[in-house]
Amino acid sequence: MIPVRGYEGATVAVLGLGRSGIATARALRAGGAEPLLWDDSPEARARAEAEGWTCADLGRDSSWTGVTLLVTSPGIPHLYPQPNRHILKALQLGVPVDNDIGLFFRSWATPDWDSFDVMPKVVAVTGSNGKSTTTALIHHILQVAGRPTQMAGNIGRGVLDMEPAADGEVVVLELSSYQTDLARALTPDVAVFTNLSPDHLDRHAGMGGYFAAKRRLFAEGGPDRAVIGVDEVEGLYLAGQLAEGLADDRVIRISAGQKLEGEGWSVFARKGFLAEWRKGRQVASIDLREVRGLPGAHNHQNACAAYAAVRSIGLPPKLVEGAFHSFAGLPHRSQTVGTAGGVRFVNDSKATNVDSAAKALQAFPRIRWIAGGLAKEGGIAALRLVAAEVAKVYLIGHSARDFALDLGDLPQEICETMDRAVARAAAEAEPGETVLLAPAAASFDQYPNFEKRGDHFVALVQALPGFEPA
Ligand code: ADP
Repeated sequence: MIPVRGYEGATVAVLGLGRSGIATARALRAGGAEPLLWDDSPEARARAEAEGWTCADLGRDSSWTGVTLLVTSPGIPHLYPQPNRHILKALQLGVPVDNDIGLFFRSWATPDWDSFDVMPKVVAVTGSNGKSTTTALIHHILQVAGRPTQMAGNIGRGVLDMEPAADGEVVVLELSSYQTDLARALTPDVAVFTNLSPDHLDRHAGMGGYFAAKRRLFAEGGPDRAVIGVDEVEGLYLAGQLAEGLADDRVIRISAGQKLEGEGWSVFARKGFLAEWRKGRQVASIDLREVRGLPGAHNHQNACAAYAAVRSIGLPPKLVEGAFHSFAGLPHRSQTVGTAGGVRFVNDSKATNVDSAAKALQAFPRIRWIAGGLAKEGGIAALRLVAAEVAKVYLIGHSARDFALDLGDLPQEICETMDRAVARAAAEAEPGETVLLAPAAASFDQYPNFEKRGDHFVALVQALPGFEPA
C-alpha cells in the first residue's frame, strides 16, 4: 500500500466504496488521515462496515464539519450529465475534490528515495482504445528486461494498492478519462496517448470535453516524454502543442499506417512492420506479422506506443522485439479462444464502442460477427464501411433491432442471446472462417460487465463439439 502523504490528522471524506474507494480509505488511514466513508448504496456501505469501517451520511450537513478534502470514485459524475449531489455539496462548501490518482502522484515520491541509485519512474497510458493492451505490454517488456515494475490504475489494481517504490522501479498506469479529468496532481515521467474516438460523451459533455480530460495528463506538470498517436487530428494537435519544433525529442509521434520520417522521433507501423526513426534516419525495424499476441493493425498501434514508451526509458530494440513475441495478449481483446471444425473463435468482448469493433472487423478474414448489447450514442451504421469481410451478423441484446436497421442489407439474424448466437454462428460457419464476438455495445443489459460477457462466449465455444484450445 502507498500511504497518502499530506493529510496527517485531517478528515478526508471518501465517496464511493467500491474497490478503489476502500483502498483509498486504507491508504489515507495509513498516512495518518481520518477517512470518513460514504456510498449511497446500502449494500456498498454494508460491505465497508463488515470490514470495520464506519460510514457517515454525506447527505447531512453535519457530516461535512471539518472535512478538508473529498475523494471520489471514477464512476461518480462530478459535472456531466449531472453532478453527484455530494460532489456538488463539496464544491459549494469550497472543499477540494480529488481522486486516488491525484493522491498517488502526491504521495509516490518519499524521502527514502534519497538512497536509491536509480530514481523510480511512472509511465501513464491514456487514450480511447488500446490502453489496457498497451499498459500490459509495457509492463511485460519491463519484466522481460528484469526491471522492477508494477502495473495499476484502470487495469485491475488500484494505484494506492501498489507497494512503495523500489530502487529503479518503473510503474505503469492505465488512466481513463474519468480519472485524468479529476486528479489534482498528474505528473508521470512518460505519458502515452494511444488514439481518440468518441466514447463516454455524456460524462464529458461531448468530444471537446472528452479530449480535454485526456490531455490533462500532458498539461499538469508536463511529462519528460510524451508518446502521442497522431492518426487523429486531436493527437496531431497535442503533439504540435507540446513540441518546440519537429526535432524536439520530448515528443515521440506514433502512427498505425502513416510514414513519419521527419527530423523528430517517431515510431510507426505499416504493412506489418514497425519502424523507429530519429533525427532523420531509421534506427530499428521489427516484423510484427508473426507476433501472435498482437494481431491486427490496432494492436500494431499498441505495439508502437509500448515500444516508444520503453525506448524513451532506454531499453534496446532487440529486447523489445523478443518481449513482443512472449506477450500472451489480454483476455477479451482480439483473443483467439480456439478452433472447432476448422472455424476460429475470437473473443473481443471489450469492443464496447464503434471504433474498437471496427478495428476487430478489419483484423480477421471471413467473419461471422456476433454484435449487440447496450448501444452507445450514435448507432453503428459506420461499421457497414468496414464489414467487407463479414459473411453474416448475429445480433444479441437490447440493441439487436436497432443494430439490424443500422446494418441495412448486411446478412443478419436476430438471436437475442449469446447461447443462440454462438450456436447459429458455429452451425453456419465454413472451415477457414472466424466467429468474432465484437459487440460494439456495452454489456450491462445482459451481463454485469464485459468480462462476464466474454467468459460466457468462451464457455459456449469451449463446449462446441471438436473444440481445440488455441
Ligand atoms: P482500453 O483499455 O483503452 O479499453 P483495450 O486494450 O482494453 O483498451 O482494448 C479495448 C478494445 O479496443 C478491444 O476490443 C480491443 O481489441 C480494441 N483495441 C485495442 N487496441 C486498439 C487500438 N489501438 N485502436 C482501436 N481499438 C483497439
